[in-house]
Amino acid sequence: TPDLELVDVGKVYDNGTMAVDAFNLTVTKGEFIAFLGPSGCGKTTTLRMIAGFEDISSGDMMIKGVRMNDVPPQRRPTSMIFQSYALFPHMTVRGNIGYGLEVKGLTKPERDAKVDRILATLGLEDIANRNTDKLSGGQRQRIALARGLVVEPDILLLDEPLGALDANLRKAIQNELKLLQKTLGVTFVFVTHAQSEALALSDRIVVMNQGRVEQISPPHQLYTRP
Ligand code: ADP
Ligand code: ADP
Repeated sequence: TPDLELVDVGKVYDNGTMAVDAFNLTVTKGEFIAFLGPSGCGKTTTLRMIAGFEDISSGDMMIKGVRMNDVPPQRRPTSMIFQSYALFPHMTVRGNIGYGLEVKGLTKPERDAKVDRILATLGLEDIANRNTDKLSGGQRQRIALARGLVVEPDILLLDEPLGALDANLRKAIQNELKLLQKTLGVTFVFVTHAQSEALALSDRIVVMNQGRVEQISPPHQLYTRP
Protein backbone atom coordinates (compact mmCIF):
# COMPACT_ATOMS: atom_id res chain seq x y z
CA THR A 1 0.00 0.00 0.00
CA PRO A 2 1.33 3.48 -0.84
CA ASP A 3 1.88 5.85 2.07
CA LEU A 4 -0.05 8.65 0.38
CA GLU A 5 -2.37 8.73 -2.62
CA LEU A 6 -4.10 11.68 -4.22
CA VAL A 7 -6.62 10.69 -6.86
CA ASP A 8 -8.06 13.48 -9.01
CA VAL A 9 -7.94 15.83 -6.03
CA GLY A 10 -9.41 19.25 -6.69
CA LYS A 11 -10.03 22.42 -4.71
CA VAL A 12 -12.45 25.21 -5.49
CA TYR A 13 -12.58 27.92 -2.80
CA ASP A 14 -15.92 29.39 -1.76
CA ASN A 15 -15.24 32.52 -3.84
CA GLY A 16 -14.98 30.34 -6.96
CA THR A 17 -11.17 30.24 -7.23
CA MET A 18 -10.09 26.94 -8.76
CA ALA A 19 -6.88 26.45 -6.76
CA VAL A 20 -6.12 22.79 -7.57
CA ASP A 21 -7.38 20.73 -10.48
CA ALA A 22 -7.17 16.91 -10.82
CA PHE A 23 -4.04 16.38 -8.75
CA ASN A 24 -2.74 12.79 -8.95
CA LEU A 25 0.18 11.48 -6.93
CA THR A 26 1.25 8.21 -5.32
CA VAL A 27 3.96 8.37 -2.65
CA THR A 28 5.95 5.44 -1.23
CA LYS A 29 6.88 5.30 2.47
CA GLY A 30 10.07 7.22 3.19
CA GLU A 31 10.02 9.27 -0.01
CA PHE A 32 10.94 12.95 -0.02
CA ILE A 33 8.54 14.86 -2.27
CA ALA A 34 8.67 18.55 -3.25
CA PHE A 35 5.80 20.62 -4.61
CA LEU A 36 7.53 23.21 -6.80
CA GLY A 37 6.00 26.14 -8.64
CA PRO A 38 5.38 29.89 -8.68
CA SER A 39 3.33 31.71 -6.04
CA GLY A 40 -0.39 31.00 -6.39
CA CYS A 41 -0.04 27.69 -8.29
CA GLY A 42 -1.76 25.66 -5.54
CA LYS A 43 1.13 24.16 -3.54
CA THR A 44 0.01 25.28 -0.10
CA THR A 45 -3.61 24.43 -0.78
CA THR A 46 -2.61 20.87 -1.68
CA LEU A 47 -0.45 20.56 1.43
CA ARG A 48 -3.30 21.87 3.59
CA MET A 49 -5.70 19.34 2.05
CA ILE A 50 -3.28 16.53 2.94
CA ALA A 51 -3.06 17.87 6.51
CA GLY A 52 -6.84 18.30 6.71
CA PHE A 53 -6.85 22.07 7.25
CA GLU A 54 -8.67 22.53 3.97
CA ASP A 55 -11.61 20.50 2.65
CA ILE A 56 -11.14 18.54 -0.55
CA SER A 57 -13.68 19.66 -3.20
CA SER A 58 -13.35 16.62 -5.45
CA GLY A 59 -11.39 13.39 -5.66
CA ASP A 60 -9.93 11.22 -2.91
CA MET A 61 -6.98 11.35 -0.54
CA MET A 62 -5.72 8.14 1.07
CA ILE A 63 -3.01 7.53 3.66
CA LYS A 64 -1.90 3.91 3.98
CA GLY A 65 -5.00 2.92 2.06
CA VAL A 66 -7.43 4.69 4.39
CA ARG A 67 -9.60 7.42 2.89
CA MET A 68 -8.90 10.70 4.70
CA ASN A 69 -11.31 13.15 3.05
CA ASP A 70 -13.52 13.45 6.13
CA VAL A 71 -10.94 12.74 8.84
CA PRO A 72 -10.11 15.82 10.98
CA PRO A 73 -6.45 16.98 11.09
CA GLN A 74 -5.76 15.77 14.62
CA ARG A 75 -6.81 12.23 13.68
CA ARG A 76 -4.58 12.05 10.59
CA PRO A 77 -1.09 10.50 10.83
CA THR A 78 0.42 13.76 9.58
CA SER A 79 2.30 16.67 11.12
CA MET A 80 2.55 20.08 9.52
CA ILE A 81 5.47 22.46 10.02
CA PHE A 82 4.69 26.07 9.23
CA GLN A 83 7.07 28.60 7.75
CA SER A 84 6.42 30.90 10.69
CA TYR A 85 7.26 28.06 13.16
CA ALA A 86 4.29 29.07 15.37
CA LEU A 87 6.14 28.29 18.60
CA PHE A 88 4.73 29.27 22.00
CA PRO A 89 7.09 32.06 23.17
CA HIS A 90 6.19 31.76 26.86
CA MET A 91 7.01 28.05 26.98
CA THR A 92 10.35 26.26 27.12
CA VAL A 93 11.76 24.27 24.22
CA ARG A 94 10.78 21.09 26.06
CA GLY A 95 7.28 22.43 26.68
CA ASN A 96 6.82 23.35 23.03
CA ILE A 97 7.90 19.93 21.82
CA GLY A 98 5.86 18.02 24.39
CA TYR A 99 2.68 20.02 23.89
CA GLY A 100 1.24 17.81 21.15
CA LEU A 101 1.80 14.71 23.27
CA GLU A 102 0.03 16.34 26.20
CA VAL A 103 -2.95 17.06 23.95
CA LYS A 104 -2.93 13.39 22.97
CA GLY A 105 -3.15 12.46 26.66
CA LEU A 106 0.24 10.83 27.20
CA THR A 107 1.49 10.69 30.80
CA LYS A 108 4.46 12.81 31.89
CA PRO A 109 6.96 9.90 31.91
CA GLU A 110 5.77 8.84 28.43
CA ARG A 111 6.11 12.39 27.17
CA ASP A 112 9.54 12.90 28.72
CA ALA A 113 10.91 9.75 27.09
CA LYS A 114 9.74 10.77 23.64
CA VAL A 115 10.80 14.40 24.03
CA ASP A 116 14.27 13.38 25.27
CA ARG A 117 14.74 11.14 22.27
CA ILE A 118 13.82 13.82 19.73
CA LEU A 119 15.86 16.50 21.59
CA ALA A 120 18.89 14.22 21.14
CA THR A 121 18.09 13.48 17.49
CA LEU A 122 18.04 17.19 16.67
CA GLY A 123 20.85 18.25 19.01
CA LEU A 124 18.65 20.43 21.19
CA GLU A 125 19.50 18.98 24.64
CA ASP A 126 21.50 22.03 25.72
CA ILE A 127 18.63 24.45 25.20
CA ALA A 128 15.81 22.15 26.36
CA ASN A 129 14.84 24.35 29.30
CA ARG A 130 15.16 27.75 27.64
CA ASN A 131 12.26 29.83 26.44
CA THR A 132 11.91 29.90 22.66
CA ASP A 133 11.58 33.67 22.22
CA LYS A 134 15.32 34.40 22.45
CA LEU A 135 16.54 31.59 20.21
CA SER A 136 18.01 31.88 16.72
CA GLY A 137 16.19 31.11 13.48
CA GLY A 138 18.00 27.80 13.06
CA GLN A 139 17.20 26.73 16.61
CA ARG A 140 13.56 27.70 16.19
CA GLN A 141 13.36 25.73 12.94
CA ARG A 142 14.82 22.66 14.69
CA ILE A 143 12.28 23.02 17.51
CA ALA A 144 9.44 23.23 14.99
CA LEU A 145 10.78 20.09 13.33
CA ALA A 146 11.09 18.32 16.68
CA ARG A 147 7.54 19.26 17.54
CA GLY A 148 6.29 17.79 14.29
CA LEU A 149 8.33 14.61 14.61
CA VAL A 150 7.70 13.83 18.28
CA VAL A 151 4.16 12.62 17.58
CA GLU A 152 5.69 10.05 15.20
CA PRO A 153 3.72 10.98 12.07
CA ASP A 154 3.77 8.81 8.97
CA ILE A 155 3.96 11.95 6.86
CA LEU A 156 5.68 15.22 7.69
CA LEU A 157 4.33 18.22 5.77
CA LEU A 158 6.51 21.32 5.50
CA ASP A 159 5.46 24.70 4.12
CA GLU A 160 8.55 26.51 2.78
CA PRO A 161 10.63 25.12 5.66
CA LEU A 162 13.86 26.88 4.71
CA GLY A 163 12.50 30.17 3.40
CA ALA A 164 13.30 32.24 6.48
CA LEU A 165 16.87 30.97 6.96
CA ASP A 166 20.17 32.37 5.67
CA ALA A 167 22.25 30.32 3.23
CA ASN A 168 24.48 28.56 5.81
CA LEU A 169 21.61 27.58 8.06
CA ARG A 170 19.59 26.45 5.08
CA LYS A 171 22.36 24.02 4.12
CA ALA A 172 22.56 22.72 7.71
CA ILE A 173 18.81 22.15 8.01
CA GLN A 174 18.73 20.55 4.55
CA ASN A 175 21.31 18.02 5.73
CA GLU A 176 19.33 17.37 8.88
CA LEU A 177 16.13 16.76 6.95
CA LYS A 178 17.88 14.21 4.72
CA LEU A 179 19.33 12.51 7.81
CA LEU A 180 15.92 12.37 9.48
CA GLN A 181 14.44 10.85 6.35
CA LYS A 182 17.05 8.09 6.46
CA THR A 183 17.01 7.42 10.20
CA LEU A 184 13.27 7.72 10.90
CA GLY A 185 11.82 6.48 7.62
CA VAL A 186 9.29 9.32 7.65
CA THR A 187 7.68 10.44 4.38
CA PHE A 188 8.32 14.13 3.66
CA VAL A 189 6.18 16.40 1.51
CA PHE A 190 7.34 20.00 1.29
CA VAL A 191 6.37 23.13 -0.57
CA THR A 192 8.87 25.46 -2.19
CA HIS A 193 9.09 28.02 -4.97
CA ALA A 194 12.91 27.56 -5.09
CA GLN A 195 14.06 25.03 -7.66
CA SER A 196 17.49 24.72 -5.98
CA GLU A 197 15.78 23.61 -2.77
CA ALA A 198 13.63 21.03 -4.54
CA LEU A 199 16.69 19.68 -6.37
CA ALA A 200 18.77 19.45 -3.20
CA LEU A 201 16.21 17.66 -1.06
CA SER A 202 13.73 15.58 -2.95
CA ASP A 203 13.48 12.12 -4.42
CA ARG A 204 10.75 13.38 -6.73
CA ILE A 205 9.57 16.84 -7.66
CA VAL A 206 5.94 17.65 -8.44
CA VAL A 207 6.01 20.71 -10.71
CA MET A 208 2.78 22.72 -10.48
CA ASN A 209 1.44 25.57 -12.57
CA GLN A 210 -1.94 27.29 -12.25
CA GLY A 211 -3.46 24.52 -10.13
CA ARG A 212 -2.28 21.68 -12.32
CA VAL A 213 0.52 19.13 -12.10
CA GLU A 214 2.89 19.71 -15.03
CA GLN A 215 5.35 16.91 -14.35
CA ILE A 216 6.47 14.54 -11.62
CA SER A 217 10.12 13.55 -11.91
CA PRO A 218 13.27 12.77 -9.96
CA PRO A 219 15.64 15.78 -9.82
CA HIS A 220 17.96 14.51 -12.57
CA GLN A 221 15.05 14.21 -15.01
CA LEU A 222 13.53 17.59 -14.33
CA TYR A 223 13.00 19.59 -17.49
CA THR A 224 12.64 23.32 -17.40
CA ARG A 225 11.07 25.56 -19.95
CA PRO A 226 13.50 27.66 -21.99
P1 ADP B 1 1.61 31.60 -0.11
O1 ADP B 1 2.05 32.11 -1.44
O2 ADP B 1 2.77 31.25 0.81
O3 ADP B 1 0.61 30.53 -0.17
P2 ADP B 1 -0.19 33.83 0.17
O4 ADP B 1 0.34 35.20 0.50
O5 ADP B 1 -0.59 33.49 -1.20
O6 ADP B 1 0.95 32.84 0.68
O7 ADP B 1 -1.41 33.47 1.13
C1 ADP B 1 -1.37 33.78 2.51
C2 ADP B 1 -2.70 33.37 3.12
O8 ADP B 1 -3.80 34.00 2.47
C3 ADP B 1 -2.97 31.88 3.03
O9 ADP B 1 -3.57 31.44 4.22
C4 ADP B 1 -3.92 31.74 1.86
O10 ADP B 1 -4.79 30.62 2.05
C5 ADP B 1 -4.72 33.03 1.94
N1 ADP B 1 -5.12 33.48 0.59
C6 ADP B 1 -4.36 33.55 -0.51
N2 ADP B 1 -5.06 33.99 -1.56
C7 ADP B 1 -6.31 34.25 -1.10
C8 ADP B 1 -7.49 34.75 -1.70
N3 ADP B 1 -7.57 35.06 -3.00
N4 ADP B 1 -8.59 34.87 -0.94
C9 ADP B 1 -8.53 34.57 0.36
N5 ADP B 1 -7.44 34.10 1.00
C10 ADP B 1 -6.33 33.94 0.28
P1 ADP C 1 0.86 28.58 -3.57
O1 ADP C 1 1.00 27.87 -2.28
O2 ADP C 1 1.40 27.81 -4.72
O3 ADP C 1 1.38 29.98 -3.50
P2 ADP C 1 -1.95 28.65 -2.92
O4 ADP C 1 -2.33 27.24 -2.71
O5 ADP C 1 -1.70 29.48 -1.71
O6 ADP C 1 -0.70 28.70 -3.90
O7 ADP C 1 -3.06 29.38 -3.78
C1 ADP C 1 -3.62 28.82 -4.96
C2 ADP C 1 -4.70 29.74 -5.47
O8 ADP C 1 -5.79 29.73 -4.55
C3 ADP C 1 -4.28 31.18 -5.61
O9 ADP C 1 -4.98 31.72 -6.70
C4 ADP C 1 -4.75 31.81 -4.31
O10 ADP C 1 -4.99 33.19 -4.45
C5 ADP C 1 -6.03 31.04 -4.05
N1 ADP C 1 -6.36 30.93 -2.63
C6 ADP C 1 -5.56 30.48 -1.63
N2 ADP C 1 -6.20 30.47 -0.47
C7 ADP C 1 -7.44 30.93 -0.73
C8 ADP C 1 -8.60 31.17 0.06
N3 ADP C 1 -8.60 30.91 1.38
N4 ADP C 1 -9.70 31.62 -0.55
C9 ADP C 1 -9.72 31.88 -1.87
N5 ADP C 1 -8.67 31.67 -2.67
C10 ADP C 1 -7.55 31.21 -2.12
